[in-house]
Amino acid sequence: MNVLLRTSDLKDIHDKVAAGQRINETDALRLFQSKDLNAIGAIADIVRERKNGNRASYIVNAYINYSNYCILSCQFCAFARKKRDADGFQFSVDEIVEKARKALNIGITELHIVGGLHPSLPFSYYLDMLRALKALDPRLQLKCFTAIEILHLAWLAKKSVRETLTELKNAGLESLTGGGAEIFAKDVRTKIAKGKESAEEYLDVHRTWHQLGGRSTCTMLFGHVESVADRVDHLRLLRGLQDETHGFVGFVPLPYHPGNNDLPVDNAPSGFDCLRTVAISRIYLDNFDHITAYWVGMGMKVAQVALSYGADDIHGTIVEEHIFHMAGATSPQLQTEAQMIKAIREAGRTPVQRNTFYQPLRSSRGDEPDAATGSNGRSKILEANLATG
Ligand code: SF4
Repeated sequence: MNVLLRTSDLKDIHDKVAAGQRINETDALRLFQSKDLNAIGAIADIVRERKNGNRASYIVNAYINYSNYCILSCQFCAFARKKRDADGFQFSVDEIVEKARKALNIGITELHIVGGLHPSLPFSYYLDMLRALKALDPRLQLKCFTAIEILHLAWLAKKSVRETLTELKNAGLESLTGGGAEIFAKDVRTKIAKGKESAEEYLDVHRTWHQLGGRSTCTMLFGHVESVADRVDHLRLLRGLQDETHGFVGFVPLPYHPGNNDLPVDNAPSGFDCLRTVAISRIYLDNFDHITAYWVGMGMKVAQVALSYGADDIHGTIVEEHIFHMAGATSPQLQTEAQMIKAIREAGRTPVQRNTFYQPLRSSRGDEPDAATGSNGRSKILEANLATG
């Protein structure tokens, strides 16, 4: 046993986890109430190691926000604009394809596409976008739309959520994004995102997508007005749906950024809070294979340390991020693949490039084509690294 845990008052939780038993909500709450971060991290590391060995993954991807116009006004959101705002934007399908073409030049395997709930774009715009991107490169994995966007598109299309998702899937959608979960507790949701979908609606969109054979990620926005009990309850609902569908490929805890919005908080999440939340998520979500330390939200320095606190993934190159940066994130807009590999190696893990579904892509010379993407899984940045030794 880790020496840290011999005398820790978390020893009983350690023993449960070491024996492969599931912890309950009371245990999770005790972990959140503890200040023994190293002990919590050591327990999380048992689960990380069991599930992923020494591997830590990253993805070579790009973000595209097709528009920031939104009919809602969630209090925490610094991204959304109204049509009257000078800094609102929307891109045509051709402009999105052009952005994708440029991103393909650096070897991306995934496009991550979300936007606001646009007041007037028709449902056909979204189908055309997916089809045009697939026509550009059928190997490009399209991870698009949050649950609230899906509800908006279903309303636009005058179809059920199931029918809407089926049409999007047929047009090329491969994964839903996990955004929009925020915190599921109703009173918190009302304070931070009034008018947004309920927890039940969020979960039901993902449930339906999973039933259609789709996969998705899920998130939790933490460090604003919620209590730690609200966080545990949020995790409980995600674990419950995962027991039912096994459709989530990973969990991404998102630290709240209080800039440029209507929800100021005195204490934005600290490094301590980021690390304990990653670690407790890893321990509690025993039916999730992967936990991502999202470098955009917590900064690469904390994300790197999180690899020793339960995380096995640091997300992607991203290239151009708007949502967190408009809320005051000071992290850079992109990480190169070389920077991510270096961060992972420094943390003592073996870097593995992954695809959208967290499946490893081979990344050494002479690889066979990858079954999941049809590509050799090697980005041009990594090719350059290999070429220069
Ligand atoms: S969080 Fe999403 S739904 Fe809410 S205002 Fe911002 S863009 Fe719109």
